[in-house]
Order: sequence, then C-alpha cells, then structure tokens
Amino acid sequence: MGLALRPARNGRVAAPRPGAAEPAAVPPVAFDHEALAVRTGERSGVPVVVAVHSTALGPALGGLRVWHYPDPDDGIRDALRLASGMTLKAAAAELGLGGGKGVICAPAGGLEGERRRAALLDFGDLIESLGGSYITAEDVGTAPADLVAISERTGYLTGLPPELGGTGDPSPFTAIGVRGAIRACARERFDAGELAGISVCVVGLGHVGAELARLLALDGCELIVADIDPAKRELAARLGARWVEPGDAVEVGCEVLAPCALGGAIDDANVDLLGCEVVCGSANNQLADDSLAEALDERGILYAPDFIANAGGLIHVYREIKGYSEERAVELARGIEATTGRVLEAASLRETTPLVAARELAAERLGAALRD
Ligand code: NAD
Repeated sequence: MGLALRPARNGRVAAPRPGAAEPAAVPPVAFDHEALAVRTGERSGVPVVVAVHSTALGPALGGLRVWHYPDPDDGIRDALRLASGMTLKAAAAELGLGGGKGVICAPAGGLEGERRRAALLDFGDLIESLGGSYITAEDVGTAPADLVAISERTGYLTGLPPELGGTGDPSPFTAIGVRGAIRACARERFDAGELAGISVCVVGLGHVGAELARLLALDGCELIVADIDPAKRELAARLGARWVEPGDAVEVGCEVLAPCALGGAIDDANVDLLGCEVVCGSANNQLADDSLAEALDERGILYAPDFIANAGGLIHVYREIKGYSEERAVELARGIEATTGRVLEAASLRETTPLVAARELAAERLGAALRD
C-alpha cells in the first residue's frame, strides 16, 4: 500500500473546484479496508478506483467521484478516506449497508464526451468484477446520465433517473436531513425549538445547498449564501438571502455555518476565524483534519458530524435497494434530527466532542449488528 499511503504534499485538503488550477492533495489515510481495486481503464486510459471499507452490515455503498487530482495517488487516498466515512454513516443511520467509494481520476483538461463515456464503462466493468460487494451511486462530479452509461456494464448501482426505474436525485433527502440536524443543534445551543430568526450561512448552492436554503427560507431563517458560481446570485435574490463571496463565507458572523460545497471547508488556517456558533452542513469531510473537532469545541463552536447530518441521501438510495416508499424514506431522513440530538447529548454527558460521540454511536451499532 505504499502508493496510497505516501504522505501528501501539503498535508491539508482545500476544497477542490471544477476547473481549479491547483487540485488539492489528499492527506494520508489509515488502511483498514476490505478491498481496494485500481485499474487503468482499458478503453479510456484513466485510473478507475473502488475502495471497499466494510461489507459487515451489507454491500458497500458509496457514490462515484469524477475528479482531477494532483496525481492518481490522491484519487486512491480520497476513495479510501471516503469509503471509511460511508461505513460510519451507514452504521450510524442504522442501514444494512457497508461503506465504499468509487473514483475516476479525470485528466487535467476534464473528462467529457467519448472519453468520459469510455471511463464510465471501464468503471462499470470494475464494479461488476467485484461481484456486488460494491454498489455505486452519484457523487461530486457525476450526474444521472453517468449512471446510465455505467448501467450498460453493471447492475450494481442506485440513483438511476426515475424513467429508467431508479429513484432519482437523493439531494432533497439530504437537505431534509441537514435541516433536521440544524434544528437539533439550534435546540442544543440556542434552546430554540424552531429555526425562525436563526441566521444560517449556506456555503455552496448546489443540489443540496440550494434545497437546504429553500427549506431554511420557509423556516424563516435569516439566510446568507455563497457560491463560487456567480450565477447562483439569482437564486440568492429569489430566496431573499444575503450574498457573500465564498472566500469570506466561513468568517461571516452568523449562528449556523452550513458547508454544502466540498470537503475541507474548516482547516487550520480558518478555524480561529470562524464567525459562527454552530457548524452543520451537507459536505463530506467538512473538517480538513479530525483534530479540528477539538479546536471547534475549544472555541465553543458546536459541530454536527457530517456523516450524521448528511445521511439523508444514503437513506434515499437505500430506499431504492430495499424498495421502501418515498414516505418511509422521508420519515427516516427526518430521523436524522433525533440522531443528531442523541449524539450532541452523548457528547455533552461524556464531555467529549460530537465527532467522538458520533463515532462511538456508529461503532456501537456496527458492533451490535455484528453480534446479532
Ligand atoms: P453540487 O456539486 O451540486 O454542489 C456544490 C456547490 O458548491 C456548487 O454550486 C459549487 O459551485 C459550489 N462550490 C464549490 N466550491 C465552492 C467553494 N469553495 N465555495 C462556495 N461554493 C463552492 O454538490 P451537492 O450534491 O450539492 O453536494 C454538496 C456536498 O454535500 C458535497 O460535499 C457532497 O459530497 C455532500 N453530499 C451530498 C449528498 C447528495 O445527496 N447530493 C449526500 C451526502 C453528502
């Protein structure tokens, strides 16, 4: 595993952006995974990766990320890191799923047209070769059309468009869960039963962030929003939200900061500058490093662990696998409010960080399921 565990160049993760000139290096990752499959796609010539962290509770489910990394080592580390997060997320949400993740390492100029299709077919072959231990879905850098291409080579996937028998975009369910997690945080920190009047800064108005902002506007929150895409200003205006530049967003004075862009929103450089009292959003790996959970705690900032708050999307795709109704999936996504509340309460009782409490909860559920 020398390849995947080589130290990163700068030791921290900045949010990679589509088309960004400097893609981010990914830090080292502990290898306790069941499997790692890496191939150079025979059609596309690009590296395709599947990391299976655990299948103890069920098949390892996790989306496919199509992204440009400084080099393939970073893509492999990213798959490993994200796969272990998926195990925790599924266990904490009490789903019969394990954790996995897929990555296609896109070339610097992007991956479009015929070469993209070729890479997706290569990725489909890799999934098929794993015999069902890994199930893929949509993630950053992919769209339903990509899943349609993958489905030509494997049936181990979820999230196809409804017209092709799938349940479609999980993002609205993720947003329902994050809103619930924000409600739990507001109760814990501000003793607030409702969100009306609470100021929330949503960073990243993509699939999840836009829907979250819409829900929070309906709740009567005081909304602040940021996105690297200036076209999102129009949505901000429609929601009556104040626009701030992405570079200023984490420092903006607000009660809740909701990172809904990419990973590493909170890092060593900005943790002392945060202007919020709560961090609760949808982005995976919001903390560039786990030790930042303690730094937030020391600053009196309440952090809702991302894998608890953003499990709504996973619940939605689980629905597709189990054949649940939409109502049942919404009910389960709403349950994230109670789960977050339990995590915050446990953290307070045990005088530890919510991140540690959430990991303990996931480990307890994993352990209990394995004993049964
Ligand atoms: P998306 O690609 O639709 O949206 C991301 C948005 O963030 C885009 O509008 C982009 O322009 C913006 N952005 C990127 N970098 C930014 C920056 N530095 N500052 C401000 N804005 C920036 O992605 P999404 O599906 O909405 O997912 C958002 C996050 O939530 C990701 O981290 C994803 O892994 C996580 N997540 C999503 C789901 C889901 O159901 N879609 C489920 C769980 C977790």
